[in-house]
Amino acid sequence: MRGLSSRGPLYRGLANLRRQAQRMVDPPGLILLYHRVAQPSVDPWGVSVRPERFAEHLEILRQVAEPVTLEHMLDTEPSGRLRARQVTLTFDDGYADNLHQAVPLLEQAQVPATVFVASGYVGQSQPFWWDELAHLLLNPHPLPGHLRLEMEETVQNWTLEDPSAPLQGWRAETGPPPGPREQLYLALYRLLRSLDPQPRTAAMEALRHWAGPQASRWADPFDRPVTVPELVQLATHPLIQVGAHTVTHPALGDLSPLAQRGEMLDSRVTLERLTGQPVTSFSFPFGSYGEDSGRLVQEAGFQWACISAGQAVRRRTSPLALPRISVEDWTGEEFAAQLRHWLGAPKDPPQSA
Ligand SMILES: [Zn+2]
Repeated sequence: MRGLSSRGPLYRGLANLRRQAQRMVDPPGLILLYHRVAQPSVDPWGVSVRPERFAEHLEILRQVAEPVTLEHMLDTEPSGRLRARQVTLTFDDGYADNLHQAVPLLEQAQVPATVFVASGYVGQSQPFWWDELAHLLLNPHPLPGHLRLEMEETVQNWTLEDPSAPLQGWRAETGPPPGPREQLYLALYRLLRSLDPQPRTAAMEALRHWAGPQASRWADPFDRPVTVPELVQLATHPLIQVGAHTVTHPALGDLSPLAQRGEMLDSRVTLERLTGQPVTSFSFPFGSYGEDSGRLVQEAGFQWACISAGQAVRRRTSPLALPRISVEDWTGEEFAAQLRHWLGAPKDPPQSA
């Protein structure tokens, strides 16, 4: 007789049954994490979904799941169980395309969403620094062969021995960088991420000057944070809730408790002042979550906080560390397969024992 560990049909059948049984006892909810609804010329972290694909995702969601607000999902049955097949949409960072590209499609599909905004970037006319860095390094314009960058009393030098065009469509997470421009992009990304906002702004200015004016022409009109009027439009839209995403978008797990508290509290207070609405949910930039982060986020006045752990939400999931699934530029089929993976097949209702 074949052992169950051989992963034959019997093993797979039993594993499926076990998953179905678990879904009946403890139905999962799903929180989806989007960033942009756009098709930028470069996207090294794969955080953009093109508008037509986003429209497909919404159509599929309506067919096979129940799209709800974050608050509604966590308002469980009296038994503490989540209601079956509920899915919540979230957007991180506060891109202008959330209002101009995503909201019209959400309206058509009547699907609600939470937009987590990094308050310190609101009204900034330039792209987020990580997007501008990608434009400067990864688009196919020529670059000078040498870069000298002064940062916080240190000087860094790089030589681009072969400053030829970078590989189009490159993703940072798919393996080692294929050429010198991708290598330099990653080195600068890591350096800038660890800097305070002021030296980072100075470094970005120096990089902009180094790359020359042709490097800035790649951004699309919505490749930037929302303005204050756009933020107010989002916050007052009946399908949208605005949540906080810190002030300066740091990796909170690397900060002291005092600095974390400042980032959490200031972003909530600023967004409430700008929108005139209570802000009760939070999401952690880069999914970075320290030992004290749960307590601190609660003390900063938030009821719910999202991380990005690639798991479904279960009955016992802490509302202050809600996992999310990062959505990529998936086709409708790929998106439907992801929903099946996390929620089970649509004809798999919990009551059909
Ligand atoms: Zn973010």
